[in-house]
Parts: sequence; C-alpha cells; structure tokens
Amino acid sequence: MTQFVDLHTHSTASDGTYSPTELIRAAKACGLAGIALTDHDTGNGLKEAVAEAEKVGMRFVPGIEISAEFPLPGTLHILGHFVDPDAPGLHRMSKILLESRNARNPLIVRRLNELGCKITMEQVRGVATEKVPVGAAVVVGRPHIAEALVRAGCVASIRQAFDVYLGTTGSAYFPKERLTPRQAIECIHEAGGLATVAHPVQLRCENAAHLATIVNHLAEAGLDGIEVWHSDHNNRAVTLMLELAEKYHLVPTGGSDFHGRHKADVVLGHGRRNVKVAVEALDRLEERWRQRGKYVAKSSNR
Ligand code: AMP
Ligand code: ZN
Ligand code: FE
Ligand code: FE
Repeated sequence: MTQFVDLHTHSTASDGTYSPTELIRAAKACGLAGIALTDHDTGNGLKEAVAEAEKVGMRFVPGIEISAEFPLPGTLHILGHFVDPDAPGLHRMSKILLESRNARNPLIVRRLNELGCKITMEQVRGVATEKVPVGAAVVVGRPHIAEALVRAGCVASIRQAFDVYLGTTGSAYFPKERLTPRQAIECIHEAGGLATVAHPVQLRCENAAHLATIVNHLAEAGLDGIEVWHSDHNNRAVTLMLELAEKYHLVPTGGSDFHGRHKADVVLGHGRRNVKVAVEALDRLEERWRQRGKYVAKSSNR
C-alpha cells in the first residue's frame, strides 16, 4: 500500500491554527507516514512536535519557511528541511526576521485604521497568541491580521481580507525586510538543513523559460530541492516542476501548506486538489541530507 507524507505545514508557532501537538496527532489520525513542520521564520514549534511525533511513532522532519527578496507581485519562499532546532544560526536569523515583522505589522494596522477598519495591534496579537502557552514567542503574520478584520466585522472572510487589504496588491500591503535568496539558503545550510523553493507558481513568472532561469539561479546558490506537489499546483504545474527538478538536479518534494482554519480549504496530507505526496519524496530528501552531512563532515576534517 502506498504511504503518504506532508512536508509543508504550519502550526500556532506561526500562522497555523493547530498547535504542534495537535498537528502531529491529526497527521497520525489521517494515516500519514511522515510530516514536516515548516513554520514561517521560526523553529519554536519544533521541539513540541518532535516529542509528540516520538510519542505517536511518526517520521518527523524539523523545518522552517523563509520569505526571501523577490520582485512583486511574486513571492519567493524557501523551505528548510532537517534543520537543527538548536542551531545558533537559526535563532539569529529568526530574531532578525521577527524584528522586520514587528516593524511592518503596525504599519499595516495603521493603514487599515486610516481606511476605516478599526482594529488594534493588541487584537492582532490576541489572535496570534490565543492558543499558545503564556509567554511563548509567536510569529505574527498577515493571516492573524486577516482574522482580526473578520472578527471586527470589517470583512466577510480571510480571503476577502487578502483580496481587498492584505495581499500584495491590497490597499494596506506593506512589504517586510527579507533575506536575499542566497542568504536564506545559506542560513538553512548553516542550520544543517536542505533548502527547497516552495510553491514556485507563487513566483508568478511570466513563462516557463523565466521560471527555469530563476530556478537555475537558485540552484547555483545552493538550492537542494523544489516543491513539486502543492495546494496551488495544478497538473500542468506539477509536470513543469518535475521537469525542473530533473534538469537542475533538485529533489522533488511536496506538501499541503496546511494552516488549519487560516486556509480552511487546504486539507492536511491532501492539499486543495487532493494531490498526495508519496513517502518516496521524504526518502529521497533524507538520502540527500545524509549525503550532504557526510560531505560536510569530510570537508571539515581536512
Ligand atoms: P506574512 O508572512 O505575514 O507576510 O503572511 C504571509 C502568509 O499569509 C502566507 O504564508 C499565507 O499563509 C498567507 N497568505 C498570503 N496570501 C494569501 C491569500 N491571498 N489568501 C490567504 N492567505 C494568504
Ligand atoms: Zn502562512
Ligand atoms: Fe509559503
Ligand atoms: Fe507555507
């Protein structure tokens, strides 16, 4: 029987609505053979997830998702898999990225206020922290602002909040400072992980040739994998990403990008289009990671 995995998910440590423990239990309940937790900009949920995965007996990959610089309206997200939750570089990077969010989020809220949506940063923080232990650090993102807008009756849905206000073409959009793609890849490598370009359709490249150029640049900067299966990918995108994986020697990976209630149409392990990821994707990723680990060990012994 084919087994399946989900290598791209979010928890309450960033903008998902399941705690790391709930996420692992849900993955177990739906029969997944393995799961990666890839919260935005933080590894704060990883230890809880590791402990629960051990408890229920499930393969677990500690991960992270980092936003990198890229021209609008595209977005470039780099996933890290097999990062070490204790790596000092990971914590340093997280701190920088959190500071840039803390600078941006109040700008968004102020603009929303000017546009007549009366929400406060306290309400946004309240949404982000309502399910986490008191004092725990969380990454506050636009989905929390969207939820605060829904609760205040300013919009009917999270989707509408993004369409009107928070999306890259919305009237209250502010970018945050990001790492360059090379910096993001290097940070992930320094933390012992493998770097994968997430949901390449969100780069919004003009055509396949443009996308190939970008992926080639990322591969030259050290990229290890490409997300082939994702909730935003139709069959044509899956075929295209598989071709790019082959061409640039990247490991094909995939996941749902599960966020719980914040992306209500995305189902854990299935995504939005019932695209499932076979366990071989995790096997190949792990194999690449082991090879690289050996390589790093060898070169540092010289
Ligand atoms: P941030 O990291 O604060 O910039 O927020 C980015 C997150 O917002 C993404 O990872 C998604 O979870 C979510 N997001 C971005 N665009 C949309 C959209 N159009 N609809 C719903 N969620 C979105
Ligand atoms: Zn998110
Ligand atoms: Fe993403
Ligand atoms: Fe994601």
